[in-house]
Amino acid sequence: MAENYEKAIKTKYIGKPLTLHDEKPAWVVDSPRAMSHIHTYGLLTPFFQGLTQGKLMATKCVNPKCPHPSVWLPPRADCPDCYERMKWVKVPSQGTIYTFTLVDYAGIGVEMKTPYWQIDVAIKGVDTIFKGYLEYGKPEIGMKVKAKFRTENPTHTILDVCWVPA
Ligand SMILES: [Zn+2]
Repeated sequence: MAENYEKAIKTKYIGKPLTLHDEKPAWVVDSPRAMSHIHTYGLLTPFFQGLTQGKLMATKCVNPKCPHPSVWLPPRADCPDCYERMKWVKVPSQGTIYTFTLVDYAGIGVEMKTPYWQIDVAIKGVDTIFKGYLEYGKPEIGMKVKAKFRTENPTHTILDVCWVPA
């Protein structure tokens, strides 16, 4: 490559001209960008695998010396209280609405049609509250809901689970 700096080169444009949308009073152009974000789920992979298999997988601290042994959903690979590696456990796919809010503006990157009901779900045997969305219906605090999994054509994201009235 370094030898290229020593010789004359001829350069040509290889891009695609931008599309003009509006020419008055200033030009507005369409400049599409694409980016691929590759990352690993690492030790949390069983959680996402579980969603595609129709189950909620949480992590449980089994360290007898832990000051606050808990079941976490979403899972943590290591216990936030004692820093030991946690054990995977299947938890119920039913729960009750702990609280909810209407999402009217979801922001960039959220692949959900707005408005939608974001709900926090309390699940028996789980020490944390699991956030999700209600696919249909109107939420109420204490309302029973059950998980609905996207086992066919999964997105491989958290959107592979949502909640419906039970
Ligand atoms: Zn612990």
